[in-house]
Amino acid sequence: MRKKIVAGNWKMNNNLSDGVQLSLEVNKFLNDNPHDVEVILGVPFIHLQSVNEIENKKINVAAQDCSTHQSGAYTGEISASMIESTGANYVIIGHSERRMYHNESNNDLAKKVNSALSNGLKVIFCCGESLPERESKSYFNLIERQLEESLFHLSEKQMEDVVIAYEPIWAIGTGVTASSEQAQEMHKFIRKLIETKYNQNTADQTSILYGGSCKPTNANDLFSKEDVDGGLIGGASLKASDFSQIITSFNDF
Ligand code: PEP
Repeated sequence: MRKKIVAGNWKMNNNLSDGVQLSLEVNKFLNDNPHDVEVILGVPFIHLQSVNEIENKKINVAAQDCSTHQSGAYTGEISASMIESTGANYVIIGHSERRMYHNESNNDLAKKVNSALSNGLKVIFCCGESLPERESKSYFNLIERQLEESLFHLSEKQMEDVVIAYEPIWAIGTGVTASSEQAQEMHKFIRKLIETKYNQNTADQTSILYGGSCKPTNANDLFSKEDVDGGLIGGASLKASDFSQIITSFNDF
C-alpha cells in the first residue's frame, strides 16, 4: 500500500530557535501518538541540520528547493548533496511560488529532480494550475505537461522516491480550498497518467498529496477520498496544534 503522508511547508517563516521549537513540538506529538502516517517538515535551509539533530526523531526533514547544479560558482545556491549532508531526506521541487517568483521552468525542474534523486533525496514534486487556467478548462493538459516535462523521464525505480503534490495555485494561501471532489478528480487523473506512462503498480504505489488551504477543519474530508494520500500544508504547518490535528485526520476511517 502507498504511504499516507502529511508534509509541512514552512516557506520563509520561523527563525532558527522558533523553528527548532516547532519541530520539537511536532516530534513530541508523534512520539506520544504513534501513527502510520509519514510526517515531513519542509524547512528553510538554515534549519535543516538542527531539525535533523533532534532526539527520538520521528519526523522526516525536507528542504524547499535545491539547485540544478552539483557544485561550483553559484552564489547563494544550495545543492542536493549539501542538503543530503545535513541528514535531510526529502526536497520539495516545483512549488508554485518558485515557479512564479524564480521563473522555474519544467525543464529546470527536471534537472532539480535528477540532482535530488542522484544524491539520495526523495522528491515531493508540486504541480498545479492558476485560476485562469482552471477557468479556461485547460488544467488537465497543463498538469499533464508539468508531469511529462519534469518527471516522466524517470525510470520506474526512480519513481519509487517521488511523491506528487497537487497544489492548485488558486487555493494556496488564499483560504479557498479545492473541494474534496475537485481534488479527487485531479488525483485520479494524475494516477491514470502514471499508469499509462509506467504501469498499474507504480500508479498504485505513488503517494499523491493535496495542497492548498488544507487545515484541521477540511483535512478529514480531503483525506477521505480514494486518491488523496495526504497533504502538503503551508499556513497550518506553522502551529504544532493545527498540524498535529491534520495528522490525526486520517484516524477517522
Ligand atoms: C503550500 O504552500 O504548499 C500550501 C499548500 O500553502 P497553504 O496551505 O497555506 O495554502
